[in-house]
Amino acid sequence: MRVLLVEDDQMLGTAVQQALHDASYAVDWVVDGATASAALDTPGYELVLLDLGLPQRDGIEVLRRLRARGDATPVLIITARDSVDQRIEGLDVGADDYLGKPFAVGELLARMRALARRSKGASSSTLTNGVVTLELATKLAIVGSTSLGLSHREFALLQALMLRPGAVLSRAQLEQSIYGWGEEVESNAVDVIIHGLRRKLGADSIRNVRGLGWRVDRDAGAAR
Ligand code: CA
Repeated sequence: MRVLLVEDDQMLGTAVQQALHDASYAVDWVVDGATASAALDTPGYELVLLDLGLPQRDGIEVLRRLRARGDATPVLIITARDSVDQRIEGLDVGADDYLGKPFAVGELLARMRALARRSKGASSSTLTNGVVTLELATKLAIVGSTSLGLSHREFALLQALMLRPGAVLSRAQLEQSIYGWGEEVESNAVDVIIHGLRRKLGADSIRNVRGLGWRVDRDAGAAR
C-alpha cells in the first residue's frame, strides 16, 4: 500500500517513514505543502498522513485542494495535541481521522489499517477471495488451515492484488505498491515476489494475464 507522508519535522518524519517501511508500506515523504499538493496530483496513493503546520502551504490548504477536486483518498491528520481548533477545521475540511503528537507508532498503524478498511468498504481486518485470506494486522496469509509468513514485499504485493480481486494490476502498479520514491526498483522484483508467493500459496493463487499483468481470482472459493 502506497502512502504519502507530509511532515516537516525531520526527526518525526524519519521515524514514521522507518516504522511504515517496517510495516510493509511504500512511503513517499515530502516536507512542505506545495510539494505535497504536487505529489497528490499523481494518482496511486491509498492514504495520506498530513501534518498541519507546514512550510509554503499549510496542511489544511493541501487537504482543501485535494477534496475540492473530488479526491476521496483517506487523510489522517497528525498534529500537536493542543491545536484543537486546527483538528476540528481539518475534520470539517475532509480529513478522515486525526492523531495527536506525540503518538505511539502502534496506534498510528492501527488507525491506518482502520482507514484503509473503511475506504475499501471492508468491515474486518482480513482480505479474502475464498481461497487465500490475508490478515492485515499479523501479515499472515492463510490457505486452508495453514498460516504462512510473508516478507514485507510479498505482503505489500499480495495486499495490492487482494484489495481488488479480479482486477488486473500492471507491473508498474505492483511496483508502486512495493516501492517508495528513491528506492531502486529491481527490474525483476515483481516476478521474484510473485514466484515466492505462488510457492507459498499455490500456483493458482496469482494469475498472469499475458501482456497486461496479474490478478487474484474474485471469489475463488465459489468457483471450485
Ligand atoms: Ca509541522
